[in-house]
Amino acid sequence: MHEMGIAMQLVEIASAAIPGDMENIQVEKVNLKLGKLSSVVPDSLRFCFEIITKETLLAGAELCIQEIEVTARCNDCNAEWTITGPAFSCEKCKSGNITIVSGQELEISSIEIADE
Ligand SMILES: [Zn+2]
Repeated sequence: MHEMGIAMQLVEIASAAIPGDMENIQVEKVNLKLGKLSSVVPDSLRFCFEIITKETLLAGAELCIQEIEVTARCNDCNAEWTITGPAFSCEKCKSGNITIVSGQELEISSIEIADE
């Protein structure tokens, strides 16, 4: 289950983002952007995150996952569309010369800390 490794990285990144002079803070939420191409299972990731954070600054924090659709752009005709199946060619002109513009995200977009 590679979600465990990913969850550990997220915890590291999130912990590093918390200012060192803040003590006894409660992180409420970690907002994550997760592209559908990242092959991460959101439920597994949430589960791992919960386990790993138990003894850390992030204990009790909720991992909010925003799933990002896979979109592609055609380099020949500039069409942009959302990919839902395995077909990786342009919807309009059938060109295979396409660029994936979103869907590979795996990044923390923000961290919410509870006010006292
Ligand atoms: Zn095209």
